[in-house]
Amino acid sequence: MSPVIALHPEPAACSDLPVLRERGQREVFCGLTGIIWLHRKIQDAFFLVVGSRTCAHLLQSAAGVMIFAEPRFATAIIDERDLAGLADANEELDRVVQRLLERRPDIKLLFLVGSCPSEVIKLDLSRAATRLSTQFSPRVRVLNYSGSGIETTFTQGEDACLAALVPELPERGGAMGGEPAPLLVVGTLADVVEDQFQRLFKELGVPVQFFPPRHAADLPAVGPGTRYLLAQPFLADAARALEARGAQRLAAPFPLGVEGTTAWLQAAAQAYGVPEERFAQVTAAPRERARTALARQRTLLAGKSIFFFPDSQLEVPLARFVARELDMRLTEVGTPYLHRQHLAEELAWLPPGVQLSEGQHVEQQLDRCRKAGPDIVVCGLGLANPLEAEGLTTKWAIELVFTPIQGYEQAADLAELFSRPLNRRLRLAA
Ligand code: SF4
Repeated sequence: MSPVIALHPEPAACSDLPVLRERGQREVFCGLTGIIWLHRKIQDAFFLVVGSRTCAHLLQSAAGVMIFAEPRFATAIIDERDLAGLADANEELDRVVQRLLERRPDIKLLFLVGSCPSEVIKLDLSRAATRLSTQFSPRVRVLNYSGSGIETTFTQGEDACLAALVPELPERGGAMGGEPAPLLVVGTLADVVEDQFQRLFKELGVPVQFFPPRHAADLPAVGPGTRYLLAQPFLADAARALEARGAQRLAAPFPLGVEGTTAWLQAAAQAYGVPEERFAQVTAAPRERARTALARQRTLLAGKSIFFFPDSQLEVPLARFVARELDMRLTEVGTPYLHRQHLAEELAWLPPGVQLSEGQHVEQQLDRCRKAGPDIVVCGLGLANPLEAEGLTTKWAIELVFTPIQGYEQAADLAELFSRPLNRRLRLAA
């Protein structure tokens, strides 16, 4: 078969809680999924998946009904080829990139995203990225990372993408005029959430920058003296890369629910010397609004039991939120990977004795879930249909990643994501 790469644009505190560790068959999406929210965030970036037709289909179906006049992701499909075909594959990839960049002068940052077919693994995408970056410098930066299902689950694609971007961040010089370095909020947040946090930080008097930025030209500077807050719990590699550049993480829970948001903002306020009264004053009104909105949801959800299958790494903060602010009962909290350091504050807030599990042996976990008979199950798409057919109520984990859920104004929306499927089931049963 002749080596052909076709460009197919698609429409658009350490806790000592015991942890059950499982290794076995998993039911999770691969890291390519992250492209769906990353391409919306960095508005002049383009994600070129170097992969198979399966990868193209995954992106197409995950993107669902989104139609773009000018899509910001595509798949360069590599068909089966032998080693002798690799040189041609590299040339073809270069041609695809050339065509794309000629046609789309708006692209300032191009990610070559690796996948799992063996033909792709044989290609050295980091060399390709360096070669293409030199060729198109300074107009376009070309970087690479892997979204392969062998190396990444679901949200780890964002981690890999941000980790690839960290070496591109400008170096921050010494303190300018004694001004502290802006706080870096790390992790993709929906624009509406980012705007709300931006306003709150401004009222608190904390200078802030967000990473990833909305435009490739706005990459924040980093260096010793940079303090950062993680907005997402799945960014282990990006955090490591930032720390290698001298940045320091502010330990905090994640900004989910009233409590999580308050403690997250407070970690920044304390680091930047914001007086307590000012903090209380700035956060009082949104906290009150969120509490009132949450109270309605709590009446629907209190006492209901919930089981989390491992999917997005958001499970521990979500479990903490539903247990503490909605009075839900945790049966099992599964997560693909438990980062004990980043989750220390979250783990300390979980109710004592909760069953935590890391990794997955899907059959065994399904058995435990059936035995527990929870009121609601949070799981991947692949498990949701069979479990619904068995009479269980499910919530797709992917929705919790695609929906704006962080911050005060979203606290009740987040709770509603759990109450809606329960209501639907009740209506069906009525
Ligand atoms: Fe499937 Fe691998 Fe492509 Fe993901 S990267 S869609 S797991 S082939």
